[in-house]
Amino acid sequence: MPRMSTSDAHSRPLRKLRISITDRCNLRCAYCMPAEEYRWLPKQELLSFEEIERLARIVRELGVREVRLTGGEPLLRRDVEELVMRLANLGFDKLAMTTNGMFLADHVDELRAAGMTSVTVSLDTLRPGRFERLTRRTGLDRTLDGIRAAVAAGFERPKINTVVMRGFNDDEIFDMLEFAHEVGAEPRFIEYMDVGGATDWSASDVVSRREILERVHARYGTPEPLVGRGAAPAERFELPTGQRFGIIASTTMPFCGACDRARLVADGRFFTCLYSRSGVDLRSLLRSEATDDDIRDLIAGVWRERTDRGAEKRLELAARSPLASRAELASDPHLEMHTRGG
Ligand code: SF4
Repeated sequence: MPRMSTSDAHSRPLRKLRISITDRCNLRCAYCMPAEEYRWLPKQELLSFEEIERLARIVRELGVREVRLTGGEPLLRRDVEELVMRLANLGFDKLAMTTNGMFLADHVDELRAAGMTSVTVSLDTLRPGRFERLTRRTGLDRTLDGIRAAVAAGFERPKINTVVMRGFNDDEIFDMLEFAHEVGAEPRFIEYMDVGGATDWSASDVVSRREILERVHARYGTPEPLVGRGAAPAERFELPTGQRFGIIASTTMPFCGACDRARLVADGRFFTCLYSRSGVDLRSLLRSEATDDDIRDLIAGVWRERTDRGAEKRLELAARSPLASRAELASDPHLEMHTRGG
């Protein structure tokens, strides 16, 4: 079937799909998984590779050009390279993964051979003590090795995603720029967001895009914006030194107006916004007699009715606090960011 374009109620096309392939993670980052215990998605409810491939083929026909695998930690899913190969064979323009990097060195050559086109590593600090405090685990070196391995495997400028939190790691912006330059990666500074497990979020902990730019300017000179952002979350800049970096200003300058992303959770729940309270259950359909046309029509209908602009609505609030309480998160794992896929 030829590819079509499917636009929502605000004329935003469906172009990108983030697929969370597991809700499990080996880390326990304080802004994502602060609790001691979690209710995991039952194994039998996780979509199989065949089911993910089928959905990917269907959304490709609806206009999706880019797929990103997320988690939890996607490299915890066994035989992930096989899934990458299946998706690569469908012919997306971009097939990416966001990972915490700890298992990346072991997988990176196979991922590249399987058809993965780009890699993003989440890394919030370069200091081992802080890493342990934030993630409640050890192993910073493994993440750093993973980034170096991605460069060595031929991934062009892997991205490093850093959530900047006041009083925790905002003194590492320059260190992160310098580390990224040294290894051949591109850093992206993310404003601390009030979603999912960020139950201790407070507006005063957010280091804004503006403040990040001011600090970078004072140190390195004027960062010049790069044109051609399109619908990408990251706004990219170039320093007088030639180094490039990005800022994802979801909290103070949301970009909902151009948002072309949908999210598929590991158990087949389909969400049209990071902030959506509810999603559509595609697993039941996949495991019924429904045809590809039935599933395509359902997804197209959901997208056409989409009016989401979750981050913009949050910005309109007079007083802002975490989106969900711990009790709400415990009662519905789909509200969790490690389930939703960030
Ligand atoms: S808040 Fe929702 S609509 Fe806005 S950019 Fe994020 S996912 Fe898109």
